[in-house]
Amino acid sequence: MEADTRVNVGDRLRMKKKHPCGGDLWEVLRVGADFRLKCLTCGRVVMIPRADALRRAKDLLGGEGA
Ligand SMILES: [Zn+2]
Repeated sequence: MEADTRVNVGDRLRMKKKHPCGGDLWEVLRVGADFRLKCLTCGRVVMIPRADALRRAKDLLGGEGA
C-alpha cells in the first residue's frame, strides 16, 4: 500500500504474507512511527515500523462500525 495511506486504531490490515499461524488479518492497536498490530488468528502482538507495515499490507479494512 502507499506510504501515506491513512490508518486508524481499530482498522484491520490484511498482509501479503501470512503469519506462521496461518492468519493474514491484523488489528491496528496503535499508530505512529511504529504500528502495534495484533494477529486476529492467534492473538500475537507485534510492533513494526510504519513503513514496513504499509509495504507488507495488501488491504486496509475499516474497523468494526467504520
Ligand atoms: Zn498469528
